[in-house]
Amino acid sequence: MSAQQEYSFFGAVERSFDKAAKFTSWDPGILAQIKECNAVYRMHFPVKIGDKIEVIKAYRVQHSQHKTPTKGGIRYATTVNLDEVMALAALMTYKCAIVNVPFGGAKGGINIDPKKYSVYELEKITRRYTSELIKKNFIGPGTDVPAPDYGTGEREMAWILDTYMSMRPGEIDALGCVTGKPVTQGGVRGRREATGLGVFYGIREVCKMDSVTEKLGLTPGIKDKTVVIQGLGNVGFHAAKFFREGGAKVIALAEFEGAITNPAGLHEEEVFQHRKTTGSILNFPGATNITNSSEALELECDILIPAALENVINGDNAPRVKAKIIGEAANGPLTPEADEIFIKKGVIVVPDMYLNAGGVTVSYFEWLKNLSHVRYGRLEKRFTENLNTEILQQLEILTGKKVNEREKLFIQHGPDEVDLVYSGLEETMITATREIMDVWHANPSIPDMRTAAYVVAINKVGTSYAELGIFP
Ligand code: GLU
Repeated sequence: MSAQQEYSFFGAVERSFDKAAKFTSWDPGILAQIKECNAVYRMHFPVKIGDKIEVIKAYRVQHSQHKTPTKGGIRYATTVNLDEVMALAALMTYKCAIVNVPFGGAKGGINIDPKKYSVYELEKITRRYTSELIKKNFIGPGTDVPAPDYGTGEREMAWILDTYMSMRPGEIDALGCVTGKPVTQGGVRGRREATGLGVFYGIREVCKMDSVTEKLGLTPGIKDKTVVIQGLGNVGFHAAKFFREGGAKVIALAEFEGAITNPAGLHEEEVFQHRKTTGSILNFPGATNITNSSEALELECDILIPAALENVINGDNAPRVKAKIIGEAANGPLTPEADEIFIKKGVIVVPDMYLNAGGVTVSYFEWLKNLSHVRYGRLEKRFTENLNTEILQQLEILTGKKVNEREKLFIQHGPDEVDLVYSGLEETMITATREIMDVWHANPSIPDMRTAAYVVAINKVGTSYAELGIFP
């Protein structure tokens, strides 16, 4: 068995947890409870594919019920296994705690290659999986709320919702049984780009901190930073978009078939369209091909964003990575061995469980919208616009001067749903970054930002268990 196959993702999460637990003062029993997965559901169900019956292997893991519902995405990939789903569920617990989203962690997965099935077959598999979850009470707005993850998106969430609603007719809050839905089916505006946008907000905040930029010899801010992104899925695509719009240069984009680089910067939408029409990211006009995709991770750059899968930077390739900041947009892209190497090299690793929390944060906003049965901004938009118009008019009368048309529109504007979602996400990411950095700076023996993030998470989950969850 190769080192790659032996790698346990859940084991890696446990190791990072133990490393951080030393910096807390929780009772060992509480720490042991936080670490465990509370409920594991492994299922096999038959689905008729063509004229054959296929046995589909799937999972749902609820890592912690210190807060309910539990929350986390559903992944469709051939790499899905129990170890991976357990690790991802645990990360969800810590992620939600750090960004103050009042959920426990969960994750689901179906061991299939979604590209091998027709849309009709995928719908059958998704609906059957959902009914298995319903049978065991593993889904519901107050128990466990799935969302998209690698290999799933709005379409799958709509199927899950429809299956749930048809089996639970009349349940008033049924829309909150799943998030990441299409906007027409109870989704919230801004959820699609939320993870990529959260990654941008988080890294932007880190780049504003003198303590970080001085140490790395970087100028403060995002402008003109060189960025390499691995993965052009939903997260990588949107991260690329927001970095480019923020003034950074995305100098390389990597997908599994290869990578492309252009020091003048790449436009993610053009690359996406090129890949869609040609079937490959390679041979993009003006860019240089890198046929071995993982070599893109080793390019000279300021910021490296792995936005694909776990375990892509490990003890083997970490010594060759030249980035100064690594932003973990994916879950678990670095192994604990890579962490140790980056601590020695002085590279700042901005950890997954808070940096990619934008998705679950906006899922929380979507769930709140579903429970309140009203679109964000519906009540206050007009009121705010009227009030701002009145204030501006008074200012113009009192000063005898006119505000220019562009500024006027900006000042008058009452919040739309997407404005409120972005603002809630921005606030969440800024607060979380500062909280983690404060913990790190307050204790110089904490070796890296991941450990500081775990300390924040353990303290929050520990408080819940200590105050509420332990019965005599
Ligand atoms: N799958 C995403 C994650 O890993 C989102 C989860 C959610 O929105 O519940 O954070």
